[in-house]
Amino acid sequence: MAEAATVRHCRRGGASGVIASRRLAPRAPRPPLRSHGNGRGAGAAAGPRQRGGMEPAGAPPQGCAPAREAEEPPGSPALPAEEPEGGQPAGAPPGEGAPPPLPAAVGRERGRRGAGPQGPPGRAARGRGRRAPGRRGGEEGGRAARRPRVTVDSSKAKTSLEALKISLRQLRWREFPFGRRLPCDIYWHGVSFHDNDIFSGQVNKFPGMTEMVRKITLSRAVRTMQDLFPLEYNFYPRSWILPEEFSLFVDEVRMMKDGDPSWKPTFIVKPDGGCQGDGIYLIKDPSDIRLTGSIQSRPAVVQEYICKPLLVDKLKFDIRLYVLLKSLEPLEIYIAKDGLSRFCTEPYQEPTLKNLHQVFMHLTNYSLNIHSGNFIHSDNVNTGSKRTFSSILCRLSSKGADVKKLWSDIISLVIKTIIALTPELKVYYQSDIPAGKPGPTCFQILGFDILLMKNLKPMLLEVNANPSMRIEHEQELSPGVFENVPSPVDEEVKVAVIRDTLRLVDPQKKKRKDTQCQTLEHMPEASEELLGTGPAGRGEGDTPRSPEAGLPSLCLKQVFPKYAKQFNYLRLVDRVAVLFIRFLGVKGTTKLGPTGFRTFIRNCKLSNSNFSMASVDILYIDITRRWNSMGIDHKESGMCLQAFVEAFFCLAQKKYKSLPLHEQVASLIDFCEYHLAALDEKRLVCGRGVVERRSAVGPCQTDGLHLTPAAHTPLLNRTATAGKFADYRNPRY
Ligand code: ADP
Repeated sequence: MAEAATVRHCRRGGASGVIASRRLAPRAPRPPLRSHGNGRGAGAAAGPRQRGGMEPAGAPPQGCAPAREAEEPPGSPALPAEEPEGGQPAGAPPGEGAPPPLPAAVGRERGRRGAGPQGPPGRAARGRGRRAPGRRGGEEGGRAARRPRVTVDSSKAKTSLEALKISLRQLRWREFPFGRRLPCDIYWHGVSFHDNDIFSGQVNKFPGMTEMVRKITLSRAVRTMQDLFPLEYNFYPRSWILPEEFSLFVDEVRMMKDGDPSWKPTFIVKPDGGCQGDGIYLIKDPSDIRLTGSIQSRPAVVQEYICKPLLVDKLKFDIRLYVLLKSLEPLEIYIAKDGLSRFCTEPYQEPTLKNLHQVFMHLTNYSLNIHSGNFIHSDNVNTGSKRTFSSILCRLSSKGADVKKLWSDIISLVIKTIIALTPELKVYYQSDIPAGKPGPTCFQILGFDILLMKNLKPMLLEVNANPSMRIEHEQELSPGVFENVPSPVDEEVKVAVIRDTLRLVDPQKKKRKDTQCQTLEHMPEASEELLGTGPAGRGEGDTPRSPEAGLPSLCLKQVFPKYAKQFNYLRLVDRVAVLFIRFLGVKGTTKLGPTGFRTFIRNCKLSNSNFSMASVDILYIDITRRWNSMGIDHKESGMCLQAFVEAFFCLAQKKYKSLPLHEQVASLIDFCEYHLAALDEKRLVCGRGVVERRSAVGPCQTDGLHLTPAAHTPLLNRTATAGKFADYRNPRY
C-alpha cells in the first residue's frame, strides 16, 4: 500500500517563519516594481491596451498582458482602514456617510498615477475614504443635482475596497465608505449576502452562493446534471464525496481497474470548504485516503486527477475567469473577456509515487507558488508565473490551435455550471428574500478555475464565490521582509471587472432605458438610431449622452440569454426547483415537510392504485432520512431540494420506464406543470365566481383536498401565497 503523500506548504498568515517575520519587520521603503529585465516596466505593462477584444464563443484575444492573482479565503480580514460595523465618520451629517471621494478623471487611472519604474502608484490618489473639502457642494449642486448619482455602500467591501473605490471614481458614483442611514442603490459586500441587513437596492452577493460552491455542494450539483446529461457535463472530473461515498469510491475504482488493468489513476483529495490548496493531497490508491481523524471531522471530495494537463514552458497552469451572474430569473450571465493564468513553479511530470507530494509541480495556486523560489513576478506576458489568459491564447493561436473552439467550450462550461447551481440558489433566494417582502435584488462576480487538458478540453476545477479582488501583491523586499505593493495588472483586470459589473447593474441606466423606451414608443423614427448598434466604446443601454460615454467598452460579454436556445434544454432541475418552491408553503424555509410533499403528489395527480399515499410517505421518509444523515444542514427538518430531486427522478423512472432519464424527468415535469396550471386556472375561475357572487357558498375545492398549501398556510401569508401560486412559472429573482 502506497503511503499518501502530504502536500505541505506555507499558509498565508500562518505561523511560518517567513510570514511571521513579515509581520514583525519594519516597514521598508517601497522599491520600484520589478520588471525582470524584460525591457518593460510596470508602466509599459499598463500601456493603453484594450483588455479584451476576445469575443466569447469566437474570436481570439487581442493584446496580451501580465497578471497576478490570489484567492480570497472566506472571512479574510477587513482592510485596516475600514470603519467598524455601522460606523459613521465623526462629523458626518445625519443620514449621510462620508462625502464623495476626490473626483478622478475617467479613464486609465494607472497611467495618471504613475505606476512606473519611479515608484508605485500614489496612495493619495487611491483616496481610501478621503474627504475632498469644499468639493461636495459643487458636485451636488451642479450636474449631480440634475441627475442623482448612484449611491454605493462600500462599508463591507473588505479586500475588494481598493478596486471598488477606483471603479466608483471612474463612474463618478457616490461612495459611502462608512455606510449610510438612508438606503443606498448598491451594497458591495466582500464576503456574503448576509454582511448587512438590506431591504432595497442591489447587493453584490446571492444568498447561499458560498454554500453552493463549496466543493461537496458543487460536486453534488454537477453530479445531478451528469446523471441527466452525462456527455454535456463531462467537463468535471469524476468525484466522490467523503466519508459517505468512501465504499462506493473503493468499489468503483476496483471495477474500473478490473475492466482496464492498464489504467493507473491518480486521485486528488480536497477538504470541503478549503481554499488556496489547503489540506489537498494526491493519492494513487483509495486505500491511501486518511480516514482517521480529519476526514471524519472534515468532509472532502476525492477526484480523478487530470494527469495530462496542457503545459506551457513545461509548466502546469490553470485559468481564473471572472463571471458575472447578473440575475437568476431571468438568467443573465456575463463572462470577462480576459482572465488570469496561474502557473506552477516546478516543471510538470505525470504523477508518480515519488513526485506526488511536490506541491509546486501539481498545484497551481498562486498562494502556494508565491512561496517557491522559482516564482517570477514579471511584466512580460510570456514568462511570469502569472500571465493573462489572452497571452496563453495568443501563443496557442500562433501554434495553430483552434482558440475559437476553446473559447466556445469555456463559455459552454460556464453556462452549464451555472445551470447546475441555479436550482438551489433559487431555494436560498426565496428563503432570504421571499416574494412580496421588501428585499434587494442580487448579482455576483464569480471566479471560475479551469484547467486545460493537453487536447485543449477545459475542465472545471472549482467556482469561487469570493474571488480575490485585491489589486496588490506581496513582495519580498529583503530576506524575510515582505510588503504589499500595488499590482498594476491586477488593478487593470479587476477594476475593469468591478467597474463594468457596476455599469451593467446601474439602476439609473435601467430608469433611463425605461424612459427611453416610453419616449421611443411615441417617436418610432428615433428608435432605430438610439437602439441600433452603438460604437465600440458604448456599453449596453448607453446612449450617446450617457455619462458612461467616455468609458472603455465593456470587458464583460453577455453569454446568457444570448446562447439560451442552445442551453435551455438543460434546465430541467431548475423546473423541478420551481415545483419544490411552490410546495414549500411557509415562506422562509428551504425544506419541504411531509404535508407539502403529499400535496405535491396530490395536486400533480401522481398517486394512483399502483402508488398509494402510504408509498408516498415511505418514499418521503426514506429519501429525507438519508439526505439528512449526510450532515448537510440540520437547522431545519424536512426534505431538501436535492432529496426532492432524487424523489422526483424516482417518480419519473416509475412513470416513464423505457425512456432515458432526462426524457423521463422532462415528461414528468410537463405532466406536473400541466396539472398545476389547470389547478391554478380552476382556482382563478372559482375565486372570481366567489367574488362576483359575494355569497358564502363555502370554500372552493378544486382538487378534492382539504390541505392545499393555501389552506395550511397561516392567514397572514395567504395573500402572498396565492400570488406565488399564480406566479410560479415566473418568480421574481
Ligand atoms: P483550492 O480551493 O484549495 O484552491 P482547487 O480545487 O482549486 O482547491 O485545487 C487546487 C489546485 O489543485 C488547482 O488549482 C489545480 O492546480 C489542482 N487541481 C485540483 N483539482 C485537480 C484535478 N482534478 N486534476 C488536476 N489538478 C487539480
